[in-house]
Amino acid sequence: MAEKRKPNPRTLLVHEGARRSQYNEMSEAIFLTQGFVYASAEDAQARFEDCPEDAFIYARYGNPTVAMFQDRMAALEGAEAAFATASGMAAVSGALMSALRAGDHVVAARALFGSCLYILEEILPRYGVEVTFVDGADITAWRSALRDNTKVVFFESLSNPTLELVDIQAVSQMAHDVGAIVMVDNVFATPIYSRAIDLGADVVIYSTTKHVDGQGRALGGIILGSETFIRKTVEPYMKHTGGAISPFNAWVMLKGLETMDLRVRAQTTSAQLIAESLVGHAAVQDVLYPGLSSHSQYDLCQQQMGAGGTVVSFTLKGGKAAAFEFMNNLEFIKISNNLGDAKSIITHPATTTHQRLPDDQKALLGIVPGLMRLSVGLEDPSDLIAEIKSALPK
Ligand SMILES: *Cc1c(COP(=O)(O)O)cnc(C)c1O
Repeated sequence: MAEKRKPNPRTLLVHEGARRSQYNEMSEAIFLTQGFVYASAEDAQARFEDCPEDAFIYARYGNPTVAMFQDRMAALEGAEAAFATASGMAAVSGALMSALRAGDHVVAARALFGSCLYILEEILPRYGVEVTFVDGADITAWRSALRDNTKVVFFESLSNPTLELVDIQAVSQMAHDVGAIVMVDNVFATPIYSRAIDLGADVVIYSTTKHVDGQGRALGGIILGSETFIRKTVEPYMKHTGGAISPFNAWVMLKGLETMDLRVRAQTTSAQLIAESLVGHAAVQDVLYPGLSSHSQYDLCQQQMGAGGTVVSFTLKGGKAAAFEFMNNLEFIKISNNLGDAKSIITHPATTTHQRLPDDQKALLGIVPGLMRLSVGLEDPSDLIAEIKSALPK
């Protein structure tokens, strides 16, 4: 027999991980069950003693639909194993809490999703974990923050909302030199443009609420990493603290994966066109999109992601008034705060997602009153560009 050829990501996204029941259904089944029936008392005892691969006990521990989703994501990411969670935040908190204990030190990039910042700034210190924040784009800042007791390094590979990249390879190397685990929140980079594990990251985390679902229907998250880290560190913690994903939501994600490659690439192509169309516009001060050749991190973006991604951020000259005028003039582009959705979404970070931050922190992160974050959807890009142009303040 010919040697088996490794399928490409698009093929994996359609087929990998499928488990068919005795009915041989075409579309993956939703096993909406909390438990599983054992053939005998002995079988129940054996299952609890040493649950074999692909056997299940209780949906908080694992479920066939959830397993299909985990296997498909792990194959795409090039990770040995995965644990799916109820939301992106269940994944972030589970990865951090399971890996850390009192006395450990964490180095994290300062530009983080609000709830990630809350965990690092408010929750971890309560349990004796010390956290140092650095400017993620500044390699020397990472180097001087790392210590012998640094256990975890945590960052968003492409930051929200100013779209700054962290050099995964350089930071991973430095972190590994002090024996730290590198955890990457890879939501903005998307699973399609992710090479995080190849570049040296140990753990990759997604809110699958974003590009994986891609249609704004359900919450979900996933932690990907080595077999040992997922099985020995993450799984016991998640199993006993209850952050499991619902089998129904895992199924939504599984079906989302089938179209994710096409969606994310089309959204990225449109995002690039929109970013280019905004450069030099009279109402626009600055376009923050790493896919633009004028962007200071363009080369790193090409190496690390190969494309700029599905989100375009830009600042308007007239501050908050101009931002609100622009948003209120939009029609197809909805005012909301999700991203990676088939529907384009506009967000004003300063008054919504990052409202909680004090002004000095906002300034440090570049969250100025005129900053807009546009998650580009699947609409025809020429319609989006026409709408944006007509909505921009004159
Ligand atoms: C949305 C998001 C999260 C949290 O995910 P939920 O599914 O909303 O819990 C974490 N990190 C980043 C970068 C996100 O965009």
